[in-house]
Amino acid sequence: MNWTGRFAPSPTGALHLGNLRTALVAWLVSRHESGPFVLRIEDLDPLVSRPEHAQQQLADLEALGLDWDGSVMHQSTRHDMYAAAVDTLRADGLVYECFCTRKEIASAAQAPNESTLPGRYPGTCRELTATQRRGFLEANRPPALRLRVDAEVSSGIVVDLLAGRHEFAIDDLVLRRNDGTWAYNLAVVVDDAAQDIGVVVRGDDLLSSAPRQSHLGGLLRLPATQYVHVPLVVNANGDRLAKRDGAVTLSERIALGESAGDVLRLLTASLGLSTDINSPAELVSSFELDSLPRLPWTVQLSS
Ligand code: GLU
Repeated sequence: MNWTGRFAPSPTGALHLGNLRTALVAWLVSRHESGPFVLRIEDLDPLVSRPEHAQQQLADLEALGLDWDGSVMHQSTRHDMYAAAVDTLRADGLVYECFCTRKEIASAAQAPNESTLPGRYPGTCRELTATQRRGFLEANRPPALRLRVDAEVSSGIVVDLLAGRHEFAIDDLVLRRNDGTWAYNLAVVVDDAAQDIGVVVRGDDLLSSAPRQSHLGGLLRLPATQYVHVPLVVNANGDRLAKRDGAVTLSERIALGESAGDVLRLLTASLGLSTDINSPAELVSSFELDSLPRLPWTVQLSS
């Protein structure tokens, strides 16, 4: 089995405790099996990605004692790879232009008798005529690119090593946005294969994306990966942890007088792992994926 793992943050801000906890699990899953562990900076969106955030994220992982192999991949350098993947799909007749606005998609999905699932792309632009297409282009509406998913593939199953078996809808997902930015779902599939990832460990907000990503990987004839989706971290109200919840990043905890080791032990305690440690390396040999909690961690912060 391939236990090469990865952590793939988007450099849009500092990593919070939830991100750091997921990184720790991802690292332990691979290192326990003596597998390589690699990093990827998901800086596809130039409007929100900042190199200084990426640098801080790497520094925080290092401060916690998490190491990685080889050089860090940056998605912003890989446009040609995403274009090549779309060319492969296009050659198989699996790509079409979509001129819909978000608003149009939302209202179509709410239409009475609409049989599609909530949030699912209703297929409006699937069979546009040449005249319709020309009309949109002449009106300066740039198209997004979507994947044509066979009608019989309406859903897919993910058998997650932690979260278990789940079924989710697969729709005509976006491959390239109408502003020219490559879509996350395309890039993640192309890059997990390029980095030879065998086990994808990430937050369980992405569990529902796994079937569509596996489907896309299959169409690109890429090897399948295993999945471990880690329950999210929530505040006392049960909402997903966010900046406004107080001191939630490593630097904020350190500013309060805690050490990186204290933060590490806060994370290991939340995972039911030993707190009698100074470095994650001490957890590698005894780590058991099966013993991780399957419910969200409600973080209780002293400040
Ligand atoms: N870049 C994504 C994030 O920071 C993670 C994507 C993934 O792990 O597949 O939420």
